[in-house]
Amino acid sequence: MKYPASVNTYCPKCRKHTKHKAKLYSKGNARTMAWGQLKHARKLVGYKGKVAGEKSVKKLGKRNKVVLECSVCKKKHERTIGTRTRKKLEVTTA
Ligand SMILES: [Zn+2]
Repeated sequence: MKYPASVNTYCPKCRKHTKHKAKLYSKGNARTMAWGQLKHARKLVGYKGKVAGEKSVKKLGKRNKVVLECSVCKKKHERTIGTRTRKKLEVTTA
């Protein structure tokens, strides 16, 4: 799948359509000492039945995202493209 490097779209901060720069979304690292992460790790310790957060079904494909940056106010927001797909998203440089 291809996505244009610049798109004219709505900016929630400027409250109008402006030119946006598109970039591929990449997930950052989870903080291991975060409260939620510690709680989740505690849940997975020991012997028990079904545990929330342990995946039994593996989904095929991902929902691709792009990060759109407004050229006027530099505000960034995300956009999900389509549904689950195994195709890789690329931002065209043209
Ligand atoms: Zn803006």
